[in-house]
Amino acid sequence: MTTDPLVPRPSTGIAAATTDLTKVYGSGDTRVVALDRVGIAFREGEFTAIMGPSGCGKSTLLHCVAGLDTPSSGSVRVGTTELSTLDDRRLTRLRRDRIGFVFQAFNLLPTLSALENITLPLAIAGRRPDRKWLDRVVSMVGLSHRLDHRPAELSGGQQQRVAVARALVSRPAIVFGDEPTGNLDSRAGADILGFLRDSVRELGQTVVMVTHDPAAAAYADRVVHLADGRIANETYHSTSHQA
Ligand code: ADP
Ligand code: MG
Repeated sequence: MTTDPLVPRPSTGIAAATTDLTKVYGSGDTRVVALDRVGIAFREGEFTAIMGPSGCGKSTLLHCVAGLDTPSSGSVRVGTTELSTLDDRRLTRLRRDRIGFVFQAFNLLPTLSALENITLPLAIAGRRPDRKWLDRVVSMVGLSHRLDHRPAELSGGQQQRVAVARALVSRPAIVFGDEPTGNLDSRAGADILGFLRDSVRELGQTVVMVTHDPAAAAYADRVVHLADGRIANETYHSTSHQA
């Protein structure tokens, strides 16, 4: 792998994958099979959208692959790392160093500036931000003139840009988004989707996004449909949305 952070990484290989991933919540009358033997691979440098009706297991899939939830059975690998082999400390470190997450709620710290929010995960990891990379990510999401602002001084769309930059700045193996435009108007949502798209095209980022909105899914290279905890079908876009 190149050491120059400005050179996109090659789009070969698998960023994360599952085999027979099953997640069961509850037991007896309240037993719910949220994921039923799901096998899926996310290629490096690819933008995947995961769609499906409410309750079909989209968030559970994201949380299991991101190491935020524990499978009942089956396997999850991030890169070549099998998550079930990690103790809590190593899993926390993997999440911190190799996973970015953008939630529907922006989840910014209100007392920190935009810049401090973006670099907080690196600060927690004791890592110094790569200045060039930080500048590139910040300018890509159009925040160069808003870095001193606190979240309350930013629009929802700008706050989500901060969350996107925060997810990208550590150069994670994968950025996950769970309905990242769910709280935004269509214009601000389109901006965020465009930035995620740009991160794939310009930075070689791997992105996996849950959405129930076909217009949002149109930004992805690949759309995977879940139904009742299983993969129902998937489609590839020959040309990605460029808007
Ligand atoms: P989606 O994101 O597609 O709406 P989820 O992955 O959130 O679906 O949920 C899948 C199924 O698992 C649903 O039936 C949901 O009620 C159930 N579920 C999700 N999280 C929990 C939990 N923490 N405890 C019990 N059931 C849960
Ligand atoms: Mg969900």
